[in-house]
Amino acid sequence: MRIFEPHVHMYARVTDDYERMALAGVEATIEPAFWLGQPRTHAGTALDYFSHLLEYEATRAATWGIQLFAAIALNPREANNRPLADEILARIGPFLDHPRCVAVGEVGFDQTTAEEERVLRLQVEMALKKRLPILVHAPHRDKKAGIERTIKVLQEMKVPGDWAIIDHSVEETTPLILDAGYWAGHSVYPVTKLTPERAANVVQQCGVERVMVHSAADWGHSDPLSVPRVILELRKRGVPRATIQRLVWDNPYSFYARSGKIPAIP
Ligand SMILES: [Zn+2]
Repeated sequence: MRIFEPHVHMYARVTDDYERMALAGVEATIEPAFWLGQPRTHAGTALDYFSHLLEYEATRAATWGIQLFAAIALNPREANNRPLADEILARIGPFLDHPRCVAVGEVGFDQTTAEEERVLRLQVEMALKKRLPILVHAPHRDKKAGIERTIKVLQEMKVPGDWAIIDHSVEETTPLILDAGYWAGHSVYPVTKLTPERAANVVQQCGVERVMVHSAADWGHSDPLSVPRVILELRKRGVPRATIQRLVWDNPYSFYARSGKIPAIP
């Protein structure tokens, strides 16, 4: 089974994880820019981080035969420091133009503040202008309300359904996202997010059309093999191989290939 892991923070993982992922069938990944765990004090640290994802991380992945592409954005959590946010946004353009930047993300809401909405709108505007797909982070608290507000912003800004994915969706919110015409991403993450069994339930209830699953593995107690675990669970339930292949390869590939920057992966 070929696997395209559409959301993993390899910046926070060791090289052995790449080897385990490659052995499990991962051939391509998306690494979205995320919050590094403490507030930034200088815009330059964000810019160096973007270039680290686009260059060093892609090289590290290639060692294991994995193609790594990045989604670049100012993280929602960092939107609340306005001077810093504006300085980063003023200098983010060249990173979005990089040949390995295939999306704008993660954007969205964290504490669901007015500043976060301002930065979300600015980054959606950039994505539309540069014809890049948008990866939206759904807030972990008040998820449903946060997703409703996100959908409202995307619709007001006339983002076509095929151009945005809302990640960290759960059973309750997936129908809401799919009904609005957008893609729904599901984090399979020990303890705090979905288990492989719950992700398999979502797939069986909602189908695989505009649906993705990912590990969101990062600094926390997480598992870069979450997608293979979902595959195993679906196979145990007798889901056809072609359906699973669409979920874990065709969907991420076709969504991010809209950027025009993902070559055919033979
Ligand atoms: Zn993430």
